[in-house]
Amino acid sequence: MTEILGNDSLLASLRQIAKKGQVSHSYILNGPEGTGKRLIADWFARLLQCTGEDRPCGRCLSCLQAVSGSHPDIIHVEHEKPNLIGVDDVRTGINQTMPVRPYSGRYKIYIVDEAEKMNVQAQNALLKTIEEPPEYGVIFLLTTNAAAFLPTILSRCVRLDVKPLREDQVAGILKDRGLSEADAYRIARLSGGSAGQAISMSESETFRGMSELTFDILRKLDRMSMKDILEFLSEISRYKDETQNMLALVDLWFRDLLIIKAGGDPALLLFREERETLSRIAARLRGSGILKVFDMVRETGDRLNANVNYELSIELLLLSMRSACAGKG
Ligand SMILES: [Zn+2]
Repeated sequence: MTEILGNDSLLASLRQIAKKGQVSHSYILNGPEGTGKRLIADWFARLLQCTGEDRPCGRCLSCLQAVSGSHPDIIHVEHEKPNLIGVDDVRTGINQTMPVRPYSGRYKIYIVDEAEKMNVQAQNALLKTIEEPPEYGVIFLLTTNAAAFLPTILSRCVRLDVKPLREDQVAGILKDRGLSEADAYRIARLSGGSAGQAISMSESETFRGMSELTFDILRKLDRMSMKDILEFLSEISRYKDETQNMLALVDLWFRDLLIIKAGGDPALLLFREERETLSRIAARLRGSGILKVFDMVRETGDRLNANVNYELSIELLLLSMRSACAGKG
């Protein structure tokens, strides 16, 4: 994926900054995972370094080097441990090379991905460079959680918020990757506007396995036997890592049931292709039962976060789903 979707106003203001030459030395790009922070930082770096006309032109040496990842003055800061950016990473990755003038570019740009992984020592080490940067120095801190930074870092950086994508934008990306309309929208909804997360869900075998099992049981909500429940329990336990997504699917399914029950517009249904099944089940449901299931889904999520027995929690949820179907009213 090379195209940046959404965040038009952010990109426009970065363009303005570059055009007016009002580039700051340090930026925080803050936003949920998979919203394109890295793409935006890379794009802005290309824009700043481009020597062509319509920046970033994509044709000049600088642009070509940047795209191939070999631009000497666009540095992606690496870290040794996966879950920590330590003081040595900052010293060797940034502080020691920052004083060396750029080789060819106008700027020397450092991009720190997952910058919230910097511990306090690392942040303090970085602070020295941020406080007295050379005129050519630009640092991008990419983060899902700007609150993890020291106030001293926050106060010296320009903060830019990257927004999640709209559902149709995420769905569009998935459709371009060959997913059906129905699958694309379903995953887009679960992804919460994160294209990265949506793509990895669409490629995940465990996500697919969990979805199929979950839809099997949801489709027979009105005729679910105790045997079905036990079978589901024994199979779904293979997908414990996908539990939150499973709960989200149940939640979305019941939202559709509620729409039908309330006589809402079928165009609002997320699972449009399941409309017949949904209508059949909705006919047996009590409105109050649906609301109970919503509560139950939330409680199940809380229980599992609190490490309450997995099978028991899911069984209780299934029983509440079944009892919601146990009578008309
Ligand atoms: Zn260029």
